Amino acid sequence: MTKFIFVTGGVVSSLGKGITTAALAVLLEKRGLKVAIQKLDPYINVDPGTMSPFEHGEVYVTEDGYEADLDLGHYERFSNAPIGRHSNATTGSIYSEVIRKERAGEYLGQTVQVIPHITNEIKKAITSGAAEGADISIVEIGGTAGDIESLPFLEAIRQYALERPKTQTMFVHLTLLPYLKASGEMKTKPTQQSVGKLREIGIQPDVLVCRCEHPMTEGMRSKISLFCNVRESDVIQEIDVPTTIYEVPLDLQKHGLDSAVVNHLELPSVAKVDMSDWQDLVTRWANPKHEIEIAVVGKYIELHDAYKSIYESLAHAGTAHNTKVHFRKIAAESLLDCEVSESLKGINGVLVPGGFGERGLEGKINAVQWARENNSPTFGICFGMQAITIEYARNVAGIKDANTSEVDENCANPVIDLMAEQENVSDKGGTMRLGAYACRVVPNTRLADIYDRDMVFERHRHRWEFNNTYREQLEKAGLTASGIFEKRDLVEAVEISDHDFFVGVQYHPEFKSKPLAPHPLFDHFVAASLRLMLNSNSAQSVEA
Ligand code: GLN
Repeated sequence: MTKFIFVTGGVVSSLGKGITTAALAVLLEKRGLKVAIQKLDPYINVDPGTMSPFEHGEVYVTEDGYEADLDLGHYERFSNAPIGRHSNATTGSIYSEVIRKERAGEYLGQTVQVIPHITNEIKKAITSGAAEGADISIVEIGGTAGDIESLPFLEAIRQYALERPKTQTMFVHLTLLPYLKASGEMKTKPTQQSVGKLREIGIQPDVLVCRCEHPMTEGMRSKISLFCNVRESDVIQEIDVPTTIYEVPLDLQKHGLDSAVVNHLELPSVAKVDMSDWQDLVTRWANPKHEIEIAVVGKYIELHDAYKSIYESLAHAGTAHNTKVHFRKIAAESLLDCEVSESLKGINGVLVPGGFGERGLEGKINAVQWARENNSPTFGICFGMQAITIEYARNVAGIKDANTSEVDENCANPVIDLMAEQENVSDKGGTMRLGAYACRVVPNTRLADIYDRDMVFERHRHRWEFNNTYREQLEKAGLTASGIFEKRDLVEAVEISDHDFFVGVQYHPEFKSKPLAPHPLFDHFVAASLRLMLNSNSAQSVEA
């Protein structure tokens, strides 16, 4: 029988609820438990696929082709929980289903209401979110206690707990202890008030996780305990970690979060929880031997979260090579009216991420041209792969007006063209080519060296594709198609074989990298960038 941990947040948003949830999953898995994780989001979008990365960060894609909140990315990077469309529900998806049933007459004449119809649908989603055979399902509720829109979700989890034995469910509430510089102290009042909000609607948190910049004193712990009606041993400090978010599981273990959960849910105790692999990861992260700088040339550069999985994947690969990866974030648009070589000077590698629409494409193409001509390790992902193809067509294969029909509908030479299956698609949400597809790796290519496998499964999110009309011409000119989706003879990867690393992939490898298992493409890209840095340093010292 699956046990449920409901994680809510109070005081402010952006407290790191997703990371805390993911870290708790790690600690429970280390105790031999099978964990599922789910996010319930109070916004009205049916899924986050239609949200702008400027506003909401990247759209993460699951293996089964669901366009998801980036928190699901944290869940997958940290834990082994099976993540897919069952791992998320939103106000939009819940209401869609209830309205569908009402139109179909399934409520048999009843008045359809928030309680019980919406809350019942939420409870159903919670049950199906617990993947088959999970010992524990951790359910994170988006938003902050007191928000109007999260009320039905809080009501649903209250009922869910009420309907089950006491040790089958529990509530973990994450709050903030703000630090007031003027008085030099941390305050507990906002925590008391947000717990008060939960108690008003019938939820008594079992465990409080308190985010803070400074250590929590014993005095504060007992005050919080008294006012919030939570045992002192269940008031857990979660302090900002200095090195990396991957230190959070270690820190929470040290402060007893997993023990508190084990006690509440009466889970079997284990003699020793071995965290040595995470400890080793954090030690390597904190003590790099080398440093490299990678240019990320994108459209949504201002917001770190817009390319979250890419930055994470680069850092994972860096740590595997004992290397700190610095990011030079370059707005692609800025490469139109400035000297590209100035912007990219001294860079050890160039990464061009995914994107949509006209803005930034020409700047990305300029960056790719500079990287190709200067032998820089170059990695194009999705729109980045398309930019590599257009640049090569224009500047090497001599197809001067090559473009993508996404940007120029009437282009004479669309080397990137709309996929046939997309021609009559007008709805935006959930209609791209999404999720994992099999890619055959062409033998004797860089890609084959990198993967050391002949078939890989990678995740997609696009509408345009490499146009096979130009395949022969481009291959003859030296752009090799190195990955193929055989069913439809779709080019999934291109490369220039005489460069150390010059690879473009139509898919998103960044969704499959983990801190303890970096993705081979990122691993090899970072390795090539490191080689470039070490070689140019030794060339400089010879000159000196
Ligand atoms: N806009 C391009 C397409 O739809 C690339 C998409 C992406 O980079 N995710 O094909």
